[in-house]
Amino acid sequence: MPIYDYECRNCGAEVSDVFQKVTDPELKKCSTCNQDTLYRVVTGGLHSFMAGSNTIGSIADRNTRINKNQINEMEAKKREANPAPEKPWHHKQGNKSLKEINKMSDNQKTKYIMEGKWNI
Ligand SMILES: [Zn+2]
Repeated sequence: MPIYDYECRNCGAEVSDVFQKVTDPELKKCSTCNQDTLYRVVTGGLHSFMAGSNTIGSIADRNTRINKNQINEMEAKKREANPAPEKPWHHKQGNKSLKEINKMSDNQKTKYIMEGKWNI
C-alpha cells in the first residue's frame, strides 16, 4: 500500500505517511484549517529515479546523443533550405550543349552566357 504525503494549500499544514490504496480518493479536507485545500505531494519519484539506470552519467551521455541527432537534423534541414544549384548555367541559358559552347569563340560564349542567344 503506497504512502502519501499531503500538504495544505491554505495553511501549509503537512500530513505525512498517509496509508492509502491507489484506488482511494485523495484526501481533501485539512484537519488544521478545516478547508478542502489539501493536495497530494508526490514522493518516492526521486528514489526510483536514483535507483534506476538513469545515473547522471548516462543522462549526460543520452543528452549528447540527442544533441548529435538534433545537429544532424539541423544540417539536413539546412541542405533542404539551400539545395545545390540544379543545373549549370549552360543548361539554363538556352539549349546548347557544353560541347557546342566549347566550340564558341570567347565573344560568342560571353553573348551566349549573358543573353542566352546563339548567333553565328
Ligand atoms: Zn490547512
